[in-house]
Amino acid sequence: TPAAEAGKPGLIGRILGRSEADEPRRVLDDAMLESLEELLIEADMGVDTAMRVAANIAEGRMDRRISATELKVALADEVARIMAPVARPLPLYAKRPQVVLVVGVNGSGKTTTIGKLAAQFKAAGKSVVIAAGDTFRAAAVEQLQIWGTRAGVPVLTAPEGSDPASLAFDAMTRAQETGADLLLIDTAGRLQNRADLMEELAKIVRVIRKKDETAPHNTLLVLDATTGQNAVAQVEIFRKIADVSGLVMTKLDGTAKGGVLVSLADKFGLPIHAIGVGEQIDDLQPFDPEDFARALVG
Ligand code: GDP
Repeated sequence: TPAAEAGKPGLIGRILGRSEADEPRRVLDDAMLESLEELLIEADMGVDTAMRVAANIAEGRMDRRISATELKVALADEVARIMAPVARPLPLYAKRPQVVLVVGVNGSGKTTTIGKLAAQFKAAGKSVVIAAGDTFRAAAVEQLQIWGTRAGVPVLTAPEGSDPASLAFDAMTRAQETGADLLLIDTAGRLQNRADLMEELAKIVRVIRKKDETAPHNTLLVLDATTGQNAVAQVEIFRKIADVSGLVMTKLDGTAKGGVLVSLADKFGLPIHAIGVGEQIDDLQPFDPEDFARALVG
């Protein structure tokens, strides 16, 4: 995995050292359990999830000798067990166009993720249309146009400051007329004015439903791994303002190992459709619970 390749120090390695086979086996006592909890909290799992994970590992192992290797395996297994049910690729429907609304705060990686998704679906033989729905950020529109060119996918834009809902409606019309398989709609990420954003997203949904009452078929929330536990608050906020159906976590190629995904899976159970592992067009991967767990534990 990219995280493992980057050679980041593993969680358990940091409390118990890196020695494996010949290390002294320590008794799993309250003190060790507590350091494990602290470690998991430090890894962005959040207090509740960290305590639950630690407790599950302790079950049946308390007051027995355990090696760092055994502890690593137990932790990785537990994390993979929690993550397995949420590891699901973006579901594809027969519906044409399948409308995917992409939401998230500015800087989270929405534009990049849309570009990568467009390229992936294009490569899989699907016809894709992108709507540059963040009409207030000229830079975002330009970026999307660059991604569209790279992916070979048309990007519909509207003049700066114009109504994103009207652009979404036009994009929907175009996607229907051209028989596109997928319509990816970018949206604004200005959380500073939550009420406005909520209204804007609701209006986009209202107008695209005039053309297809089952749309949007997915509402993808893009989260930045480097924001750590902050991602929990973002899920809470976006779930209030949009009908979030799944997550993409970006920037897992950096030092952040995405421990917050464990608490997100534990708290919300929302599917994780993909992870971003770089700035290039093919740096979007399916979420693999076992790879993720191994990279997290180290
Ligand atoms: P937006 O404001 O949500 O549309 O965010 P952008 O897509 O413009 O991304 C913000 C920054 O994060 C850009 O510099 C991207 O290149 C970078 N970025 C996005 N996804 C990833 C990723 O998976 N890994 C890395 N390293 N950088 C990313």
